[in-house]
Amino acid sequence: MLDIQKFGQINPPTRLLMGPGPINADPRVLRAMSSQLIGQYDPVMTGYMNEVMALYRALYKTENQWTFLIDGTSRAGIEAILLSGIRPGDKVLVPVFGRFGHLLCEIARRCRAEVHTIEAPWGEVFDPQQIEDAIKSVKPRWLLTVQGDTSTTMLQPLEQLGEICRRHGVLFYSDATASFGGNPLETDAWGLDAVSAGLQKCLGGPSGSSPVTLSPRFEEQIRRRKCVEEGIRTADHADGDEEMIYSNYFDLGMIMDYWGPERLNHHTEATSMLFAARECARVILEEGLDNSIARHKLHGDALLAGIQGMGLEVFGDLNNRMNNVLGVVIPQGIPGEQVRQMMLNDFSIEIGTSFGPLAGKIWRIGTMGYNARKDCVMQTLVALEAVLNRLGFASKYGAGSQAAWDSYAGGQ
Ligand SMILES: *Cc1c(COP(=O)(O)O)cnc(C)c1O
Repeated sequence: MLDIQKFGQINPPTRLLMGPGPINADPRVLRAMSSQLIGQYDPVMTGYMNEVMALYRALYKTENQWTFLIDGTSRAGIEAILLSGIRPGDKVLVPVFGRFGHLLCEIARRCRAEVHTIEAPWGEVFDPQQIEDAIKSVKPRWLLTVQGDTSTTMLQPLEQLGEICRRHGVLFYSDATASFGGNPLETDAWGLDAVSAGLQKCLGGPSGSSPVTLSPRFEEQIRRRKCVEEGIRTADHADGDEEMIYSNYFDLGMIMDYWGPERLNHHTEATSMLFAARECARVILEEGLDNSIARHKLHGDALLAGIQGMGLEVFGDLNNRMNNVLGVVIPQGIPGEQVRQMMLNDFSIEIGTSFGPLAGKIWRIGTMGYNARKDCVMQTLVALEAVLNRLGFASKYGAGSQAAWDSYAGGQ
């Protein structure tokens, strides 16, 4: 029989999460999440939904009406957009420069797309010309991109891609989960048709809600899809003649009818996650989006200076790195996993490991959201240097924190 006494109350240890995400949630977000529930159609609840749309329009820098939450982790947002946008047989082009590019390919294949890729070595990004050349030869209907790929810590410049897509009649999507809130993103100015994100990176919340924004051009594509059943949508959202969307949960047309003025029942909006998403946006917009991005850069630069100051090598093209995650090359002869264990057990600090071609080669250290702070950077550097010295990596003790202090002094 189940001995319930063995199951104590949830009481996780205090950790400082300095990996590639998730990170510690802002206490304001946790407080918002502990608010009592209200009914799905309570005017207060639908009012909050409208507020969330307005808040995320500001964060996404867009006029897009359809800016709302998909309930689920970041990949729920990705799946909703790809499943609703891609028709079986559509050609898509994915510039792959890390693990999340491969994820887009996998999901697009499940949507029965004809997937074409170009690949950059891990640690690099694409020149817009390479992408335009590929668009010219593949002639895709979709360009699917990742803005910040946490697996390599690189940030793909997107500024020029929208204009290229327009010229070739291509729809333009980006997964901005890792970069959103800590690096510039201009949905409308850059000509993006769909963007998705999550809360657990620079937004300082838990995973479990995916803010998305969809352009009017994207909406048009969705409205062409057939409805599963008569009467599910209102007249102006009447059935199109293109193949139906092979998901109910991720049918963006139905989700739009739920978030829009018709309020047609679909799922029950994940209320506590909506409270979280609303507070994440409020935190950043009160600070100012530009200030939030500058803060991520300030602390990311200090972390970089500290890592280099202690004599460690940094991974990838530094001109195209994200502000909020740094790849650190594990020095010769240092057991990377033991370092992570000592960081966790002796300092309660989590740093990230790596996947695929980078497994065992780099650690990934994040400074984002609530943890894009000086104290978090300094604690992490001091702890990492102590652990490395303990394991025989000779640095002039204290060099890392001194270099970070210098960076802060120069950056202010
Ligand atoms: C972290 C990350 C995700 C996370 O997806 P989840 O479903 O929330 O785990 C997705 N895309 C990118 C680029 C990421 O960095």
